[in-house]
Amino acid sequence: MLTTQLDFLMKKVLVAAAFAVAAIGNVNAQKCAHTDILNSKLANDPTFPAKYEQFQNDVNSRVTAYEKLTANTAQKTTATATIPVVFHVVLTQAEITSLGGTEGIYKRAILQLDALTRDFNGLNADSTKMHAAFKSKFGKANMYFTLPHRKPDGTGTLGVEIKVAPAGFAGYGKQTDSMKESVIGGLDPWDPEKYLNVWVVNVNYPGLMGWGYSPDYASLLGIPQFQGIVIDYQVFGQKKAPSVGGYIPGADSGRTLVHEMGHFFNLWHIWGNTEVGSGVCTDDDGVSDTPQQEDGNYQCVFPNVRTNCHSQSGGEMYMNYMDYTGDHCTVMFTKGQVTRMLAQITPGGPSDGLTKYPEVLQWPTAVADIERTTAVDVFPNPTNGMINVSFSNANGLQAITIINIMGQSIKQINASGNQSDYNFDLSDLAKGVYTLHCRFEEGTVTRKIVLQ
Ligand SMILES: [Zn+2]
Repeated sequence: MLTTQLDFLMKKVLVAAAFAVAAIGNVNAQKCAHTDILNSKLANDPTFPAKYEQFQNDVNSRVTAYEKLTANTAQKTTATATIPVVFHVVLTQAEITSLGGTEGIYKRAILQLDALTRDFNGLNADSTKMHAAFKSKFGKANMYFTLPHRKPDGTGTLGVEIKVAPAGFAGYGKQTDSMKESVIGGLDPWDPEKYLNVWVVNVNYPGLMGWGYSPDYASLLGIPQFQGIVIDYQVFGQKKAPSVGGYIPGADSGRTLVHEMGHFFNLWHIWGNTEVGSGVCTDDDGVSDTPQQEDGNYQCVFPNVRTNCHSQSGGEMYMNYMDYTGDHCTVMFTKGQVTRMLAQITPGGPSDGLTKYPEVLQWPTAVADIERTTAVDVFPNPTNGMINVSFSNANGLQAITIINIMGQSIKQINASGNQSDYNFDLSDLAKGVYTLHCRFEEGTVTRKIVLQ
């Protein structure tokens, strides 16, 4: 286990070093690894181009069938879709603390889901920035995003799980999915048929903020087990109250995940698959109402009209979520993009399952009220001595007590206001199993602690 972990860390260091060298001189860093991953596969696997073409044909056929299905309805959407999004957070204790501990992470999770629901439904107040020529193309998906309350094993959950990476762990680098495997230090996905899995980690690659694979695209890449989305912890949530901690400049409105969610539902970058800077016009994103575009944009040029490949009315749609202009510039999906996404969640689509198991959104009946409102995390556990007890919500917390197997109270801390993080030193206790009792006005939450 130790060897595996060490090999894994060493490999990360080497991979990170290799990419750091490759990135020197690249002024326009890749914000999202989607294009690189595809192009690397196209370049290195001779059988891949034909399979990729078939994949695109399959997506297009699905979209055409969906358009036919909905052509006669007044509103070109399915019924409201509610998507369960589970956040798997893998960070060092220092990074977790920088986000405000468990409480801060839950606040960011809620703000992040608010951002998704806002932007997927065209509820964003800044949609007024949209160029006039594109207003008739503004797409609204009727899709909502929420935390699940039932784990794959049927037990209750607040929908976020947090794992502490070893102190000094530098993060993950590019083109790795090792945060998705618990045996090498990550967190395993929850059944991807029922849950949309998002990993929040330190990406630790210059400029890179995330990547995402749909189920069918992950299969095409030969990594079906890695479907889902990865984002950097410094773009997670929205920079507004009650969020704490830092954000990458220009990526503080939750729109990195909006962009990656687009990829998850089989949207491509608005300029197609070419590398940023290649400047070719022969490539497209496969969506009819997004203007053909030469390249990815980094600068928000509102209200100027940038010339696109074919000088179509309105120029380039640099305010589209699938461009690279950043959170303060992007304000829209098009109707065509929305149709393409909805086709993925309709019956027979690759993400159909995400709307078929509404029970995962409901709490199991046996779960106490206090567990429904308060996450209690203990880091690290097992421990050699020090533990951090972190609450998503410390309202009504009265005391935290460590109890031994004889039922005796060994240590106790009385709650202090709404403080949501507490530290215990257990190094003077005998090795073994202890119980943590967190007494609230509304009830008691217990957790097992292993001292080794
Ligand atoms: Zn992207």
